[in-house]
Amino acid sequence: RAKDMGKNAIAVFCEEQCLEFTRRYRMDQEIKAAIAGREFRLVYQPIADARTLRVRKVEALLRWERDGTVVAPPSVFIPVAESSNSIREITRLVVEMACAQHAAWRLEGLSLPVAVNISSRCLNSDETISHIAACLNAYDVPPEALEVEITETTLMQNYERGNAMLCTLRDLGVRVSLDDFGTGYSSLQYLARMPIHALKIDRTFVQELLDEGGSLEIVETILGLARSLRLATVAEGVETAAQLSALRGMGVDYLQGYCLARPLPADDILTLCRRGMRLVPGDVEG
Ligand code: C2E
Ligand code: MG
Ligand code: MG
Ligand code: MG
Repeated sequence: RAKDMGKNAIAVFCEEQCLEFTRRYRMDQEIKAAIAGREFRLVYQPIADARTLRVRKVEALLRWERDGTVVAPPSVFIPVAESSNSIREITRLVVEMACAQHAAWRLEGLSLPVAVNISSRCLNSDETISHIAACLNAYDVPPEALEVEITETTLMQNYERGNAMLCTLRDLGVRVSLDDFGTGYSSLQYLARMPIHALKIDRTFVQELLDEGGSLEIVETILGLARSLRLATVAEGVETAAQLSALRGMGVDYLQGYCLARPLPADDILTLCRRGMRLVPGDVEG
């Protein structure tokens, strides 16, 4: 504790904070330039029907690359963008790119729903909704072909506002999943009232599923909850064939993870689907 260590410690602490602030500020400036410089692109990770292992939809995940090398992973730049207004521009870009990609695939004969991640910072802006509606319209994307993923934690931070936005999305016909489910503290009362379609079981529970003293009971509880609320379930971060068959046995509806497919460029998704949509599970190496 800086306070217990005297004035020098306080000075050091402030210096660190100041450096952190400067680092974030610089990165945010870089993000703004990267949007203009088209350094962001989307990759798409297949989500499969648990019974047939056929690809049913994809999740769009953002990548930041300059001259073919990764500048920063989303776990680093998304929080920075969220601390400023850049997240608004990023979200606009993601929605637009996802709609454009859906339309491009459809021209190739592939009709594949796309899920996009929307940050809490964009939840309380009507502009987000009107932009989604405008993109669906501009690219002639049926609303049920777009899905929105919102993390449980961020939704709970501003429930009233968030829920209002979810209702508008539902009225548009867009589906909503609660992402990283199980890590937040949704009250059951709220959950029952929310206009959502699916729960995405957080990766940490999937990874510890088969460990001794692991998350088997937690996952079973989430599945029971989903069943009684008539929500679909998606398990994310499935890495091994053992996890995959356990989750299938437990009745999870959809599976997503490196065991089935990594996030892929749009062209690879097309190739994969032309080969018949069915994924072949294989354990992740290393
Ligand atoms: P998320 O929405 O929960 O996305 C799933 C993350 O898990 C992705 O990481 C994905 O690559 C990774 N993943 C999938 N399968 C496996 C697996 O089997 N094992 C492991 N270890 N990881 C797996 P990614 O792409 O690095 O994204 C991380 C987070 O960044 C996302 O978590 C999401 O919260 C955020 N993010 C990504 N793209 C966007 C975006 O366009 N907008 C917003 N607001 N957030 C985004
Ligand atoms: Mg997600
Ligand atoms: Mg997730
Ligand atoms: Mg996650």
